[in-house]
Amino acid sequence: MAHDETSVIDSGTPASATAPPRTIPFGRPQLDEAEKRAVMDVLDGPTLTHGPRVGQFEADFAAFTGAEHAVATSSCAAALHLACLALGLGPGDDVLVSAQTHVATAHAVELCGANCVFIDSERKTGNIDVDRIEAAITPDTKAIALVHYLGFPAAMDRITSIAHAHGLAVIEDCAIALGTTVEGKHVGLSGDVGCFSFYPIKHITTAEGGMLITRRADIARAVSQYRAFGIDRNVVSERPLPGMYDVQSLGLNYRMNEIGAALGIEQLKKLPGFLAARRRNFRALAEGLADIDGVSVLGASQPIEHCACYCLVMMLDAWLSSRRVALIAALNSRGVGTSVYYPKPVPRMTYYRRKYNTRESDTPVAAWISDASLALPIGPHVSPDDIDYMITSIADVIEEVR
Ligand SMILES: *Cc1c(COP(=O)(O)O)cnc(C)c1O
Repeated sequence: MAHDETSVIDSGTPASATAPPRTIPFGRPQLDEAEKRAVMDVLDGPTLTHGPRVGQFEADFAAFTGAEHAVATSSCAAALHLACLALGLGPGDDVLVSAQTHVATAHAVELCGANCVFIDSERKTGNIDVDRIEAAITPDTKAIALVHYLGFPAAMDRITSIAHAHGLAVIEDCAIALGTTVEGKHVGLSGDVGCFSFYPIKHITTAEGGMLITRRADIARAVSQYRAFGIDRNVVSERPLPGMYDVQSLGLNYRMNEIGAALGIEQLKKLPGFLAARRRNFRALAEGLADIDGVSVLGASQPIEHCACYCLVMMLDAWLSSRRVALIAALNSRGVGTSVYYPKPVPRMTYYRRKYNTRESDTPVAAWISDASLALPIGPHVSPDDIDYMITSIADVIEEVR
């Protein structure tokens, strides 16, 4: 399945010769005539980059989230990298990073030459274990980079008060949390920056793309500059002749283009409906799984009225997790797409294990999630009938592999 970012497991690929009665991929972008028309409008016009649509998408995204500043980027990984650059992270600096996250959260830190110090997850939600943060802070610690895992909001009140007490910056990886609010405040706005992804199976898509939001004008300005070769924006608008500009710093090309922004503008209009479907699906699937022996739902006790509900992570009891490979194969052969979020805690990925000599026992909860879980689809492509089919299939398949 092309859009399974973990690429560990093929989603919904029939393993048997007989086709399953249904195919429910782990993720599927929701695009229709509105997106096609918006893209064709771009192609019919003269402007593929530096046009009005990126600015409009940024304004729409800022309005949706309530952010003072929104800067569109070529991906979430790019937004995270820009955030680390704008915060001035570099060699000699340590950043506390969620152990259970996409590798992009940690890579952004490493790409600036700073070091990661991994913090284990809490069992309840998989989010960063706040009780472990203070003990990990040293004079070299400059920031905290955390993920809102599966859309469950991390405890930002406690995290920001620790950060303030120690003078640390906070980067929120909101790649799978678009639509999560806490007391009306969107995730990404409690810390210094929030970064979002528009990869095809995320909440909305621009094919590839990302967004950075911040309350801080200085960060927005620095990020805008790093995003486009270090060209000073004011100098650009004040340039005396076309093509004449100055460069005062290093920079990258991490811009979004007009085609992506045209998609994003249309997708954002549909987001409230997508979120309602995700919450409905999460509730129905969690309810059905509650009656099945051997499994539990990560975050089952969390209120989800304001949660982005990215996917449902089903935890397997020990006896069942030893049969996970067979379970996945049997579900996939019935057309039920699955994934693993995430396949290894970041400190167990080879690059990090080699660099930091990390041990399994350092982050046991993150390891438990990676090793004993299975992620199930709850996106807007999944119908209530699909959920019933998934529940029946999971119950049957557990009996089969028992
Ligand atoms: C998908 C994802 C990313 C990477 O997003 P891209 O837009 O593909 O760069 C980063 N962080 C998390 C938590 C993700 O799930």
